Amino acid sequence: MSPYKTRSRKKPVVLCFSGHDPSGGAGIQADIEAIAAQGAHAVTVITALTCQDSARVHHFEPVDACQLQRQCDALLNDISINAIKIGMTASVDVVKAIHQIIRQQPDIPVILDPVLASGGGDSLSAHHLIDAINTYLVPGCHLITPNIPEVLRLTHAREHALIERAAHILLESGCENVLVTGTHSDSDLIEHRLYNTDQSLQHFTNARLPYEYHGSGCTLASSIAAFVAQGKSTASAVLQALDYTFQSLQNGHCPGKGQHFPDRLYTLTNDT
Ligand code: PLP
Repeated sequence: MSPYKTRSRKKPVVLCFSGHDPSGGAGIQADIEAIAAQGAHAVTVITALTCQDSARVHHFEPVDACQLQRQCDALLNDISINAIKIGMTASVDVVKAIHQIIRQQPDIPVILDPVLASGGGDSLSAHHLIDAINTYLVPGCHLITPNIPEVLRLTHAREHALIERAAHILLESGCENVLVTGTHSDSDLIEHRLYNTDQSLQHFTNARLPYEYHGSGCTLASSIAAFVAQGKSTASAVLQALDYTFQSLQNGHCPGKGQHFPDRLYTLTNDT
């Protein structure tokens, strides 16, 4: 008999579908850190390998969709999942495989970060991928977290004046909530807008920080997924995740020659 006492407890679990960013700023590493920082556990299925540094995405390769499906089946037969977070999807085959998986789990809330471009502006999607995301992933989603260019591209809208209409198009196609993040505007105060199917609209604001960041969208969506996995309401999950993301950015660092990275584990290194 071991003399040590241990705890056997359940942690909320988030299943993440994301690309691997070897720089560690975005993608699956961002998800794992942001989810762990909320006391939840991330199980991770890689959708793509990327070749990138802190400034640019040079290349990416989607994974084989059958391998992704096999990996998910093994996880879902073993571990109870409380929320699903989808980030970079990279190919239509990967989108379709994720669709098969989520439609077999209709009770698990899905948080979709429609990663269409990198923080540095490199495209991570083409037209046919956007169509597949709209057809297979948007309907049935609990929350989708596009930034302003993403909500416009997803709905093929051309003008900023159409943001509200674009959010409603996503709601009409069957997702429950749309959080349009406001970083890509030029105002000093960043305004994020949460549109709900019941027609209500909530506003959240953040001060604008001085740098460009790599992985802020991943940090936000995966921390929301962790809070939803804990059973929090959408509005409360969004509010807490925005606060956590802001703190991670404010405590960020610049390890390379490109963008700043959030420090998602800032509570471990802060001496204050
Ligand atoms: N996922 C991966 C794998 C990426 O490489 C990137 C950006 O390069 C993103 C997501 C999006 O990052 P951000 O959170 O900056 O939008």
